[in-house]
Amino acid sequence: MIYLDYQATTPLAPEVAAAMQPWIEERFANPHSPSRWGSEAAAAIEVARKQVERAIGLSGGSIAFTGSATEALNWAIKGSLEQTPQGHNRIITVATEHAAVLDTCEWLAGRGADLTVLPVEADGRLDLDLLERALDERVALVAVMQVNNEIGVTQPISEIADMAHKAGALMLCDAVQAFGRLEICKGPDLVAVSAHKIHGPKGIGALWMRKGGEPDALLHGGGQEQGRRSGTLSPMLCVGFGAAAKLADERRTRDYDHVQKLWNAAVHALGPGWTINGSIRHRYHGNLNIRREGLDGARLIADLRDVAFSLGSACASGSGRPSHVLRALGLDYRASRSSIRLGFGRYTTQQELVDACKRIAAHAVAQEKLDA
Ligand code: PLP
Repeated sequence: MIYLDYQATTPLAPEVAAAMQPWIEERFANPHSPSRWGSEAAAAIEVARKQVERAIGLSGGSIAFTGSATEALNWAIKGSLEQTPQGHNRIITVATEHAAVLDTCEWLAGRGADLTVLPVEADGRLDLDLLERALDERVALVAVMQVNNEIGVTQPISEIADMAHKAGALMLCDAVQAFGRLEICKGPDLVAVSAHKIHGPKGIGALWMRKGGEPDALLHGGGQEQGRRSGTLSPMLCVGFGAAAKLADERRTRDYDHVQKLWNAAVHALGPGWTINGSIRHRYHGNLNIRREGLDGARLIADLRDVAFSLGSACASGSGRPSHVLRALGLDYRASRSSIRLGFGRYTTQQELVDACKRIAAHAVAQEKLDA
């Protein structure tokens, strides 16, 4: 199997598996219990917390662990809106955000929040003049992602945060696809990240909160995470997340350079006839979303069973619905069904990527001949 679905999830790093091992088997104590075992587990969690915070690289705030980035985003959005004074119930977000943001905002809109979803340009970038015109003193939150999960396009997060702050709003950044791959942009008040996108375990994420900008609690109960997010923390998941964050931080330049080389090799191996979806300049290069006139992307995936790639986000692929991101770029139904996403990273070898791209290109040409 050649794995080219790095935006959906990433393979667990061997170093992470080794760090987690003792906490899976013998070190099972509850980190919130006062026994020596409990205290050791709590101490390991605090080491992991520092490792994740260091990899996020922002100052003036701290993280709370969550069960996923989806939870972190729900918490940030709902908890921020809870706190705002009457009349300040506007949320601004962007049409290409992940469902964890869009659906949460829609849910709040169904309960009276005033939601603005800004369109993007044909290259997937947000027009900042549009944002400027949409901002007013009633805006409580501006939510924009740094790297898009479907097309890899980046947004100017620091500028967006500045604009939000000038209007008196908080800024939330979904940094799930940026974390560990690019430097996280300075400026946001709230940042959501996930372990399984950086070669860590599934089932754990984190919300970074600027001091003073913490949202109201989403989960109530035992008062863990300073009373902000109740629920027993999992030492094995926290330790795994910490180890993955530390590794990503140490290897950032090496991983980044590797991805640049892979991108060039993939584009070359695919050959002519493909169009890249989204900005070529403003992007993370470990995400290659491409389309080809007349291609049936779903059929291509079915034909190439031993290459794992997707039509867009894992969720969009499963539903059979055309991607909301590609539609936001102005692609019609046919063009979005003719698009595929190749995602690669740390453990992808150039040889396997080139082989996969050549096979993808050959199958695409064969489809054309069959359909002619
Ligand atoms: N945001 C983005 C950009 C993502 O790619 C994902 C995962 O696909 C999420 C949020 C949700 O992350 P999690 O799987 O940790 O809930």
